[in-house]
Amino acid sequence: MYDFDGNDVASTIYYGLFALQHRGQESCGIAVSDTMGPKGKVASYKDMGLLNEAFTPETLEKLKGDIGVGHVRYSTAGSSTRENAQPLVLNYVKGTLGLAHNGNLINAPELRRELEYTGAIFQTTIDSEVIAYHIARERLNSKTVEEAVGRAMDKIKGAYSLIVMSPRKLIGARDPFGFRPLCIGKRDNAYILASESCALDTIGASFVRDVEPGEIVIISPEKGLESDKSHCIKKEEHARCVFEYIYFARPDSYIDNVSVYNSRILAGKFLAMDSPVDADLVVGVPESGNCAAMGYSLQSGIPYGTAFVKNTYVGRTFIKPKQKTRESSVQVKLNAIREVVRDKRIIIIDDSIVRGTTSDRIVRMLREAGAKEVHMRVSSPPFLWPCYFGTDVPAKEQLIAHNRSIEEISGLIGTDSLGYLKIERLSQIVDGLEICTGCFTGRYPIEPPEEDIRGEFEK
Ligand code: AMP
Repeated sequence: MYDFDGNDVASTIYYGLFALQHRGQESCGIAVSDTMGPKGKVASYKDMGLLNEAFTPETLEKLKGDIGVGHVRYSTAGSSTRENAQPLVLNYVKGTLGLAHNGNLINAPELRRELEYTGAIFQTTIDSEVIAYHIARERLNSKTVEEAVGRAMDKIKGAYSLIVMSPRKLIGARDPFGFRPLCIGKRDNAYILASESCALDTIGASFVRDVEPGEIVIISPEKGLESDKSHCIKKEEHARCVFEYIYFARPDSYIDNVSVYNSRILAGKFLAMDSPVDADLVVGVPESGNCAAMGYSLQSGIPYGTAFVKNTYVGRTFIKPKQKTRESSVQVKLNAIREVVRDKRIIIIDDSIVRGTTSDRIVRMLREAGAKEVHMRVSSPPFLWPCYFGTDVPAKEQLIAHNRSIEEISGLIGTDSLGYLKIERLSQIVDGLEICTGCFTGRYPIEPPEEDIRGEFEK
């Protein structure tokens, strides 16, 4: 956020990040600078955990400045440690850069080696530092910071939505494929960049527009909002992550003018059309399965119900890095309401099955609560391939759909029947937008790297 009236931005950034907490729960941070003050003086605070665990009113109070950047982290490259928390703050001859990155680079290991051979010393193991380094280095030979961002974009490959804070400008950039979202908002005399529009609603800002795939936007008090489209590619080549609509994003967000809520309702409707089953009640696995369950109910006429109580004090279980932690988390997070499911034939909808841990527990919970039949419908196709572009997907061998038929999976998770969304439906749920379906089809918009980039830096 950049407030041209000179007001402090840290607390607004905090609430904006709070609305984006679902995107990452491992660590968080805010870095701010005073554009009227000494060039390059940045105050920042980062820590592990959720925002309300990491920040206190006192820590926020100390962050004085009218320009700032914040981040909540979900790791795809680099381990979950305090050093790897973002935003990254980098001091160099031209001042200070603050950087927040969402996505995953596919050529980070090469770029990192190249930089290391020329003397670079890295402080973190995340690919985002490679981006920061490139921008800082290019800045020495560029007239402006946006030019340096553009030159860095010529080198980095993969998925990135970036926010760069320079001493006097705020820059947003989205990779040419548009894998990850990024949008622009405005409140009074301040501009905001955020991953999802729900963050703008939360802080009372109005939605201006999405940053286009490949676009660099430059925010400064002299010129307001400027745009550089020299990195944009043809619309047909765009490859937005469809999993944002299926799972990641909040349903009250719009990404590239498509409502996340609508796409989930549609997925549920298509499931009801393509994979019908006779039952008494449709229920969702909270939260991400709820919209699709509603869609299924609307289309099939089978009543929609609430079968689970979710303990809202726990985060998304998947994000806990260890399998053992995840298993026990399902019970901590959800409990079935016996009164609702007893003696009923239930259709349970979830957004995805990855390892199958969640489904297995949930199906068991429903049976223990007295369900007569449990039919599972999944509002995405079977998860079969790795993601190189910012979604954390376990190794192939751990994916329950790997080398298994739908009947076999159904047997493993203990359902009476199982149905997935058809691949052909994916572009229909996002109003025909160009999407990446790599995790379901193995077809990627960019050739995936030969070396396994997952955890590369830890080896
Ligand atoms: P699993 O228990 O491994 O089958 O995980 C499936 C559950 O985790 C689903 O209910 C999703 O809501 C959620 N999920 C799926 N993919 C991801 C991901 N890449 N990151 C975080 N959560 C996910």
